[in-house]
Amino acid sequence: MKDEFTNEGLPVHINLGGHLVPIQRVDEVPGDDDEHVFGHYDPKTMSIQIRKDLSPAMSGEVFWHEVVEAINDMYELKLAHNKIQTLGVALHQVSQCLSTTSETPSGSSPSASTSTSPESTGSSGVAPWDLVPD
Ligand SMILES: [Zn+2]
Repeated sequence: MKDEFTNEGLPVHINLGGHLVPIQRVDEVPGDDDEHVFGHYDPKTMSIQIRKDLSPAMSGEVFWHEVVEAINDMYELKLAHNKIQTLGVALHQVSQCLSTTSETPSGSSPSASTSTSPESTGSSGVAPWDLVPD
């Protein structure tokens, strides 16, 4: 029955702190008294449950939230939940950039000079456009 286990863009498991944390899509998430009923990180089994009836964007956001929850638990960061929330949203945004920038710019610029000596340009790291004339 593992064949119908689809995670739709999410990994089946993540490696976190030397542990293999399974990402499980479920019908309902335990802990109905919790404020986030879309996902759950279970510290006892070290697994993440995410509702399967979520949109891809929502499930991605829940996924990253629970990843931060897992990191928070494993490394005993004791983050306040609003910080977990913010980190989850931010990581989700960054992760979306990963899929859109799959092409590397491939900087194949011709090597103008064979820099045999690592002499600096003498400008001490200041770009020319930063130099304001008098
Ligand atoms: Zn949470």
